[in-house]
Amino acid sequence: MIRYYRELTRLEMEQTDRERTIVLIPLGALEQHGNQAPLGTDGLIADVMPRYLKEEIEKVDPDFPMLIFPTIPVGLSMEHLNFCGSISFKPDTYYHMLYDIGESLARHGFRKLAFLVCHGGNAPTAQILSRQLRCDFGILPFVLSCGAFGHPDVKATVSPGNVWDFHGGEMETSMVMAIDPSLVKLDTAEAGIPTAFVGNKSLMPYGSVALNWMGEDWRTADGRPIGIGGDPSGATAEKGEIILRTSARELVQGLLEIRDFKLSGDDSSVK
Ligand SMILES: [Zn+2]
Repeated sequence: MIRYYRELTRLEMEQTDRERTIVLIPLGALEQHGNQAPLGTDGLIADVMPRYLKEEIEKVDPDFPMLIFPTIPVGLSMEHLNFCGSISFKPDTYYHMLYDIGESLARHGFRKLAFLVCHGGNAPTAQILSRQLRCDFGILPFVLSCGAFGHPDVKATVSPGNVWDFHGGEMETSMVMAIDPSLVKLDTAEAGIPTAFVGNKSLMPYGSVALNWMGEDWRTADGRPIGIGGDPSGATAEKGEIILRTSARELVQGLLEIRDFKLSGDDSSVK
């Protein structure tokens, strides 16, 4: 059964098979998403994705053993601090805050954690943290990506010519519109492109040869920092629903395999 961590009583938690139960920890962020989308875009997506996951997984396994942890609303967003309203942990603060949550869960006997990364900037911390938690406590911390942005159905939601769609662009704005259209002010939207990188064949703001980007690298056509990648103007709630639903479906198989995952020789001293 999939339940919400904070709704359980202590007695219910004591009765939970903690060795088998996956704790899903959604990692959000509180940072600018352009003129048109809310600061809490990533946190809003992190809040709803577990509900989509619950609906999709329960079609396959109504007794799926998972607890949904409260969304961590702030993440690692220093690349956006020069834009009004963005809030960031420093890397060591973020790491240690998540480490303490992982340690507490391990103390209570949970073995399977799943960090649901809903802001790309949180991914490196989730990865090194997971390795350290595994090393220190012998638990299994998995890292899940919240958005299936490479899936053909998701790519098909992006308007033709919108080649830089990424942070705060058409896809993310569409997802917020699917959650609550009143939170998006689409008439204020402006497109952003990484002007310094346009024309490069290899060096990009991400990929195999990359400069770790800052929000101000993303500019409007006339050179003003806008801090988003892509053109949100084609965003719709219908597109957002496709992206959220597809992203959830794409995680189902992985979560089923996490449910069944055992290291061979798992009863040995090497975990
Ligand atoms: Zn975002």
